[in-house]
Amino acid sequence: VRARVMQVERKPEVSYADIGGIDEQIDEVRETVEMPLTSPGMFDAVGIEPPAGVLLYGPPGTGKTMLAKAVANQTDATFIKMAGSELVHKFIGEGAKLVRDLFELARQHEPAVIFIDEIDAIASKRTDSKTSGDAEVQRTMMQLLSEMDGFDERGQISIIAATNRFDMLDRAILRPGRFDRLIEVPKPGVEGRERIFQIHTRSMNVADDVDFAKLAETTEDASGADVKAICTEAGMFAIRDDRTEVYMADFEAAWEKIQQEEAEENEDVS
Ligand code: ATP
Repeated sequence: VRARVMQVERKPEVSYADIGGIDEQIDEVRETVEMPLTSPGMFDAVGIEPPAGVLLYGPPGTGKTMLAKAVANQTDATFIKMAGSELVHKFIGEGAKLVRDLFELARQHEPAVIFIDEIDAIASKRTDSKTSGDAEVQRTMMQLLSEMDGFDERGQISIIAATNRFDMLDRAILRPGRFDRLIEVPKPGVEGRERIFQIHTRSMNVADDVDFAKLAETTEDASGADVKAICTEAGMFAIRDDRTEVYMADFEAAWEKIQQEEAEENEDVS
C-alpha cells in the first residue's frame, strides 16, 4: 500500500532555475524551509523557532510541487510525496497508519522533505458529515497533527503541504506549531509566462520567428502547467508536419488547441 501512495525521490532533479514567474515565493520558501535545514544553528542562536510546516496554496499547475522538489534538491534531501486524496479515498481504514508510515519513512531518510499534496482532502472544514468516510478522514488528520505536534526534535525533516482550495481548509491545521507559514502561489503574470516559455523551450529546436514576449501576451490566464503543455503541443504540430523546427504558428495553434480542450473539459464537468 505504502508504495502506491508515497512517491519517494532521492534528491529530485528540479532546481529553482526551472521555476518561472514566482521569484518572491521561491525566496520565501528558501527562507522558511531551506534555511532551517541548512543552518539550524542560526535559529537556535537567534532564539526563534523555524516554522513547523509550510502551506503552499493557489490554482493548479502553478509550481507548488516543483517548489517542494527544488528545496529537496538544494538541501540534498529525499523528497517524499503523498496525496491527501489517495490517502483517504483508496485505502479506507489505512489513513492514520499511512501518516505514521510517512513520518517513519522520513526519519529513515533524513534529510527529507515531506510533501502532502491536496491537503484539503484530509483537512477540510467539517461542513458536511454525509460522507461515510468522514470519521476516517478525521482520524487521518488527527494523526498528521499529532505527528507534527510531537516534532520537537524535528531534526532534518521539513513538511510542506499544498492545496488549490484554501477556503475549504479546517483552520485547526493553520495554528502555531502546525502549518504556521502560508505562501500563496499564484498564476504567473505576463513576464512570468515569458520566463516559463523560455524554461520549457530550453532544449527545443525553436525557429527564429518565435516571439516569447508576444506569446506571453496572448496566453493570458495560462498557468505554468498550461505553458508547458503549449510547448509540448507546439512540438507535436511540427512533428505532424514532418519538421524538426518549431515555428511561432505551432505555438499559436497549440494555445488554440489547449484552450479548446479546456473548454470541452469544463463542459463535461457542468
Ligand atoms: P497541482 O496543484 O495541480 O498539483 P502544482 O502547483 O503542484 O499543481 P506543478 O506540479 O509544480 O504544479 O506543475 C506541473 C508542471 O507544470 C511542472 O512539472 C512544470 O512542468 C510546469 N510548471 C508549473 N508551474 C511552473 C512554473 N512556475 N515554472 C515552470 N514550470 C511550471
